[in-house]
Amino acid sequence: MNTFDYVRPASVADAIAAATAPGAAYLAAGTNLLDLMKGDIARPERLVDISRLPGLDRIETLPDGAVRIGALVRNADLAHDALFAKTYPAVAEALLSGASAQLRNAATMGGNLMQRTRCGYFYDVASACNKRAPGSGCDARAGENRLHAVLGWSEACIATHPSDVCVPLAALDAVVEIEGRDGRREMPLEALHRLPGDTPAQDTALAPGDLILAVRLPAEAAGFAANARYLKLRERTSYAFALVSAAAALRLEGGVIAEARLALGGVAAKPWRSRAAEQALAGRRPDDDAFRRAAQAALADARPSGDNGFKIELARRLVARALALAAAGTPERLPALPASPFSSAAGARHVA
Ligand SMILES: Cc1cc2nc3c(=O)[nH]c(=O)nc-3n(C[C@H](O)[C@H](O)[C@H](O)COP(=O)(O)OP(=O)(O)OC[C@H]3O[C@@H](n4cnc5c(N)ncnc54)[C@H](O)[C@@H]3O)c2cc1C
Ligand code: SF4
Repeated sequence: MNTFDYVRPASVADAIAAATAPGAAYLAAGTNLLDLMKGDIARPERLVDISRLPGLDRIETLPDGAVRIGALVRNADLAHDALFAKTYPAVAEALLSGASAQLRNAATMGGNLMQRTRCGYFYDVASACNKRAPGSGCDARAGENRLHAVLGWSEACIATHPSDVCVPLAALDAVVEIEGRDGRREMPLEALHRLPGDTPAQDTALAPGDLILAVRLPAEAAGFAANARYLKLRERTSYAFALVSAAAALRLEGGVIAEARLALGGVAAKPWRSRAAEQALAGRRPDDDAFRRAAQAALADARPSGDNGFKIELARRLVARALALAAAGTPERLPALPASPFSSAAGARHVA
């Protein structure tokens, strides 16, 4: 048992001051961090409990039409917010496809963004893992790696980022609001997660003590509400992380794609936005040929990192399918199995 300090600051300023100490970590709902501590994978010397910080649990519509999601908003509360789900259906679908109902009731938005990889070797302290123990090697390279990355990986690490909700958020140009030692700043969500390079231990662009305050979706993101989907392929139909996933959003005008957004999950150490696919779709009619070409463009740089070459073709097909479903129109109600491409039946009460 490792000993650690536990503090529960009353304000954002106190939280940041407490978390600036070496070895400190923020604790939100703890659904990831406490598991990592129990497995001896994370050994924080100080837990800074932010779960009761005031003002971070709100979903607000801003005067310019953007929506601001506080870092402590629970995954379930956001997915079941009727106005939010209607305006950003792919985000709601992604949230409801993640984890289990119990976990979604606890898990926070900030924690979801910051959750760590699900690479099995990262969780096994007997294995070599550059992310957990820099310089120790990567047992996944010659090991069980069929779930690992096919884009943006390096020799040092081939892990993927496990978040579902980050995928549509990246597609819709979400912005992350951060407060740290040097004050407030913001960055595109797309810039939050890092590719591994030679330093896979550092997952994100955050500095020690940086606290995520909120995630903001710009007003323009609502323009995709009528034609947006999130599709997730997993090894069992629920309660599993993505093998590959795709968020597809289209703005159709006069039977033509005026603007497209596409991001993939389960393929890299970050949600993978494909602007090449988006450009391939702009100005085209929404048909199978356009979707197939977009899927080719999205995976053009993909290469296996082990026994996972199959994921490349799987991802191409999933992208084409997600685009076709988005073009057909966002359903009034989410399917009974949210984000599952195998689901044909409409469900009830999955979105309020
Ligand atoms: C069995 C299981 C299945 C799951 N399946 C899925 C799935 O299919 N899809 C999916 O997307 N997720 C899945 N998850 C992950 C789950 O969504 C995350 O564990 C959860 O979102 C983390 O939120 P939390 O509030 O519990 O974070 P915590 O565990 O409290 O924190 C996680 C990390 O984020 C940091 N952190 C938390 N809040 C902030 C903040 N505001 N600013 C800066 N850093 C912060 C913490 O320091 C810690 O490093 C699953 C989890 C489990 C246990
Ligand atoms: S893929 Fe990354 S997380 Fe997995 S063992 Fe290798 S270094 Fe560790």
